[in-house]
Amino acid sequence: MQIYLTDVENLINFLRLSEENQKKILKRPKFPLLIPYELAKKIKKNDLNDPILRQYVPLIEEEKFKENYLKDPLQEEKFSNEKFIKKYKNRALLLCTSNCFVHCRYCFRKFLKKVDNKTFENELKLLEEDKTINEIILSGGDPLTLPNKRLSDLFEKFEGMEHIKTIRFHTKALTTFPSRFDTQFFEILKKSKKQIIFVFHINHQSEIDDHAIELIEKLKSFNFLLFNQAVLLKNVNDNSQILEDLFKKLVKIGIVPYYLHNLDKVEGSSHFEVSKERGKRIMKELLENLPGYMVPRYVEEIPFEKSKTPIM
Ligand code: SF4
Repeated sequence: MQIYLTDVENLINFLRLSEENQKKILKRPKFPLLIPYELAKKIKKNDLNDPILRQYVPLIEEEKFKENYLKDPLQEEKFSNEKFIKKYKNRALLLCTSNCFVHCRYCFRKFLKKVDNKTFENELKLLEEDKTINEIILSGGDPLTLPNKRLSDLFEKFEGMEHIKTIRFHTKALTTFPSRFDTQFFEILKKSKKQIIFVFHINHQSEIDDHAIELIEKLKSFNFLLFNQAVLLKNVNDNSQILEDLFKKLVKIGIVPYYLHNLDKVEGSSHFEVSKERGKRIMKELLENLPGYMVPRYVEEIPFEKSKTPIM
């Protein structure tokens, strides 16, 4: 049984796109197509305005050249060791894989060198030695693409480091590949003595289905902290009503809307750009309509800055 859609022709058939709509699909994208069937099933047939489709299906707009859209907009390849990034005080990022469950068309890491994830020996040594770090962020790619055995080995090492208090996952698995949350993975989490945090990446409420809600219930029962970061994307969620619906839904199911990111200017993503002025207007409307705890911080990443930079 096939798990992923990776071939554009298969995708076109699966989505039953009309001839007119097919012309708007990029047939040979530089960043390959990758969509799990679990996710593709949530896309409305023959609708190029579907918010899930727009995030994950390559459109011909990706070929548009725009100045200032770069291969590595955050200049991450310059940060010391390629898998261990310490940009922020007290926190370090372990890029544990380049694999993802889905290829987001606006991903700022899409052109970066592939991470060699055969061993994390050097990174674990750096982490062990730097006692100022108390939170390890597992990122990638998606850290949940690692097999349970690899995650369990990593957890074992973290458990032995007293200065590490928190383990944080940045993952899209909840809404793109929920079956990844299997019993064995829950066993690894349950055994840990560290504070565990999940930061999900949900941009539109149509991504949240009953399966995701069930998993959230389970994660909440272990007292893990659950946050969401979204990206403001043109023709996906650049409208205060859509974001209001998303943030209300997140809070209802127990996820704190944490960040709303401005788009990182990576090559091939200029069709997602929302001006900061428009972003600020949307934020103003959200602040007027929602209680403060439902409104995330509107931020951008600036290369070499020590933290995310608030826009408002
Ligand atoms: S899941 Fe994350 S790392 Fe992977 S393509 Fe999407 S944004 Fe990029």
